[in-house]
Amino acid sequence: MNSTLNIPTDTLFIADNLALDFINTAYGVGGNQHDCFTDDNSVVEWLRLAGQLPREFQEVNQAPDGLLDLAREFRSGARVVIENAISGVIPDLAVVNRLLESGRPVREIEWNHKSGMFNIVKRLRYNDPSCLLEPVAESLASLLASDKFGFVRQCEGPDCILLFHDLTKSHRRRWCSMATCGNRMKVAAFRSRKKTE
Ligand SMILES: [Zn+2]
Repeated sequence: MNSTLNIPTDTLFIADNLALDFINTAYGVGGNQHDCFTDDNSVVEWLRLAGQLPREFQEVNQAPDGLLDLAREFRSGARVVIENAISGVIPDLAVVNRLLESGRPVREIEWNHKSGMFNIVKRLRYNDPSCLLEPVAESLASLLASDKFGFVRQCEGPDCILLFHDLTKSHRRRWCSMATCGNRMKVAAFRSRKKTE
C-alpha cells in the first residue's frame, strides 16, 4: 500500500492535544470548508503523522473499511462535546463513551506452549475502525477530565474554527498560529489604527 500519496499536505498539528488536532482536520466555514480526511487511507496517514499508529498495524497495513465514516462521525460529535464544555454546558458524552468501549483491546487468556504457562494477552482488532480511533477518544476523555480543560480555546480569527489547548505559561495564546490568523489580525489592527490617525 502506498498511501503516502494520500497525506494531506495541509494536515494541521497546532493544538497541543491529540483530540483537538483530530477535530481540527475539518476546518474553515462557508465555502472555505476543508476536510483532511478524504478516504480510509487518509485517516490512517493522519494517525501515522500523529504518532498514533500502533507498530503492529504496519504488519496488517490495511485501512479497515468504515474508518473514514467513523472518523468523520466521531469528529463532528467530538466538536460538539468540546464546544459545549467550553461554554459550560454538560455535553452528551455518549459519542466518546461509545468509542472508548468499542475500541478497547480484547483481553484473552491463552496457553503458552513455550513457557508452559498461561498468559493474559491484549489484542487490538486492526480490522475494526474503532480500535484505530480509540486513542483519540482516550485523549478527548483525558482532556475533559483534566484540570487544565479551562485552557481549551477556539482561535479568535474571524471564520477560524480551529481549537487548541493553550499550555503557554501566560495562557494568553489567541491564535491557531501566528503565521496565519495572528498575522492577519495584526495587519487588520494596524490598518484600523491608521484609519483613526
Ligand atoms: Zn485561526
